Amino acid sequence: MSRSVLVTGGNRGIGLAIARELAAAGDKVAVTYRSGEPPEGLFGVRCDVTSSEDVDAAFAKVEAEQGPVEVVVANAGITKDTLLAIMSEEAFTSVVDTNLTGAFRVAKRSVKAMMRARKGRIILVSSVVGLLGSAGQANYAASKAGMVGFARSLARELGSRGITVNVVAPGFVDTDMTAALTEEQQKTIKSVIPLGRTARPEEIAKTVGFLASDDAAYITGAVIPVDGGLGMGH
Ligand code: NDP
Repeated sequence: MSRSVLVTGGNRGIGLAIARELAAAGDKVAVTYRSGEPPEGLFGVRCDVTSSEDVDAAFAKVEAEQGPVEVVVANAGITKDTLLAIMSEEAFTSVVDTNLTGAFRVAKRSVKAMMRARKGRIILVSSVVGLLGSAGQANYAASKAGMVGFARSLARELGSRGITVNVVAPGFVDTDMTAALTEEQQKTIKSVIPLGRTARPEEIAKTVGFLASDDAAYITGAVIPVDGGLGMGH
């Protein structure tokens, strides 16, 4: 199995772990990055998912390098946490534009080739807080919840073309995104996670790898939690 894969935000954190997991499974993996350098051993294309022109250009480069994208992972995401009463409209719209509209741009650009091939995998990286809610993260939680309705609609639209669309909803994962939390905040978070610990990026990547694999051929429209039990019941 050596499919053409594209992972957005694949230069660090969860995205990089996903890219490495799929590359280890034998796929040709490209990653997008916004800043810095592409990771060693992976084909990197610079792309800001808030720009459809960037997304289009990135796909064109990936198609030229490794063929039409057969598996796409919309992973790029940001947070701009603050309480609603003092949240600027920019903090709301920029988070939605990156996390949700960014996933729309990436899925839309990938879907024509997948429809032609009558197969494809679209995997969106959401978050446990999309369904659980999180004080101080109304913008982020709204963007991540939106991904669920988006994915489930796509699952219905594209199922007859052999394309599956699924969501992975991680809990707290050790990356730059959570490194900003104080020790006290980390302690409080761990106390409410049934497994009592945060996740390693590789643990999220394994689930994405499964959803991308032949073993997951009959799974679509699913929201798979990888959260140590934090979101149970949602
Ligand atoms: P990081 O902050 O470590 O990495 C974020 C990635 O997204 C980077 O590669 C970054 O690129 C990229 N990115 C951000 N904005 C854009 C943009 N406009 N265009 C293109 N790329 C962009 O985050 P994580 O690895 O922790 O998070 C990855 C995903 O997982 C996100 O969607 C996040 O919401 C989700 N998630 C994370 C959790 C956690 O606890 N860490 C929990 C649940 C979900 P660059 O480096 O170039 O800026």
